[in-house]
Amino acid sequence: MTPVIVWFRRDLRLADNPALSAAAEAGPVCPVYIHDPDADGDWRPGAASRWWRHHALASLDESLRGHGLRLVIRRGPALETLRALVRETGASAVHWNRLYDPAPVARDRTVKQALQADGIAVHSHKAALLHEPWTVKTGQGSDYRAFTPFWRAARRGGEPDAPLPVPELAAPTTLPTGEPLTTLGLLPRIRWDGGLAGRWRPGEAGARERLAHFTRHALGDYGRARDYPGEPGTSGLSPHLHHGGISPRQIWSAVRNADDGHGEAAEAFLAEIGWREFAHHVLFHHPDLPDAPLNPRFAAFPWRADPGDRLLRAWQAGRTGFPIVDAGMHELWATGWMHNRVRMIAGSLLVKNLRLPWQAGERWFWDTLVDADLASNSLGWQWVAGSGADAAPYFRIFNPVRQGERFDPEGDYVARWLPALAALPPRHRHAPWAAPEGVLRDAGVRLGRDYPRPVVDLKASREEALAAFERIKRG
Ligand code: FAD
Repeated sequence: MTPVIVWFRRDLRLADNPALSAAAEAGPVCPVYIHDPDADGDWRPGAASRWWRHHALASLDESLRGHGLRLVIRRGPALETLRALVRETGASAVHWNRLYDPAPVARDRTVKQALQADGIAVHSHKAALLHEPWTVKTGQGSDYRAFTPFWRAARRGGEPDAPLPVPELAAPTTLPTGEPLTTLGLLPRIRWDGGLAGRWRPGEAGARERLAHFTRHALGDYGRARDYPGEPGTSGLSPHLHHGGISPRQIWSAVRNADDGHGEAAEAFLAEIGWREFAHHVLFHHPDLPDAPLNPRFAAFPWRADPGDRLLRAWQAGRTGFPIVDAGMHELWATGWMHNRVRMIAGSLLVKNLRLPWQAGERWFWDTLVDADLASNSLGWQWVAGSGADAAPYFRIFNPVRQGERFDPEGDYVARWLPALAALPPRHRHAPWAAPEGVLRDAGVRLGRDYPRPVVDLKASREEALAAFERIKRG
């Protein structure tokens, strides 16, 4: 039997992998990964994503070896590389799972047409999403801009199909040669990744483990705990979903099979999987979402001049003087992840109080998040900026002190990520500048030395932001 090529991309798993299952039915499998960062256009994977990708590929290779196979790693433009592999193996077909970001969509279209013209069968499959972006439409046939009706329409089709098991895999007589994973240079040259390695286990087994832990220990209280960054209340599945160590269908099925799988908490959690779907659908229909405001009025927004990027750098380094924001930026730097509530607060401070463009925050997250995802990141930033689909109204400006007091009432999260403030009594941890001199002294905190003073005045910057918004609203 002639071999069948499976082109792995962001679906680095054996279970519930429709491309792999279909290929395995058709013949011996040649599993391939092609390193071609140019194919992502302006959005080459950032440093934290590359770190994850390296380890997820290593894990996939190990799993394949357990089935008498190995991952063939090549580098170069996809079409040329696939053509070479077809020549070397005599493969009659290529299978892959679809991606929905603009650059891969365009690339895949070209690759598909060219291979078909060569006489090779090409099969693409749905794996990354529960619903194809072209199938969820309004009555008028357009795409949705608001989440609630989108999710209602998406769910009308009923529950997703059951996930696929790991298929029986047969190896071809010989597999083509590949490059060692290390030559792709995905790992950082300067080793800053200790915190990532301590927190995450990239790959299919790590994803399975995290999902099992979540459904057993956190799902039941998700509706409440998901908003508290100091508690382990969310799943931590976002990087696994992004890199494809797990599929949304597997998550859905595990939730339904859990003890609390049909309650309110489960519905709240599945709605977040829905937000991920929504983000991908919006990006598919609006490919300039990562760069341009969905609401064109925001193109004229008067951002603040920031000579030398002083404010941007303070934000990136977690030195704004607003503890909940700085704690989040430290969590991000140390672990490649930040809690969703803190992403919203930190984003709001950047875009509204510092009045710096959301694209600057988006780029920073792109490089530092292990779950950096073009759809969810762009939608998240445009949500914060008020310019996106179903976005927060611009005039709703998060107050980082009140948000901190509400969602980190004991200041545990702040104390964990900002040890300089850990000795402050909890009620002063969210606004150390307002603490009495004696309290600061007792806690060993000298403002401006151990922890910065606020880089902006919250009230004045809020008013300036609202005035700037008034100008574009009228314009
Ligand atoms: P859980 O609460 O356990 O949610 C389960 C899953 O649902 C997540 O893994 C994720 O896939 C999905 N999800 C949850 N919330 C959202 C959301 N608001 N939008 C889209 N999907 C969601 N998420 C990313 O995956 N990649 C990003 O690059 C990203 N950038 C963001 C930027 C900003 C400014 C904001 C406000 C949000 C961003 N998010 C992003 C969404 C959200 O913060 C993360 O998905 C979530 O924090 C991941 O943690 P979790 O897996 O524990 O989430």
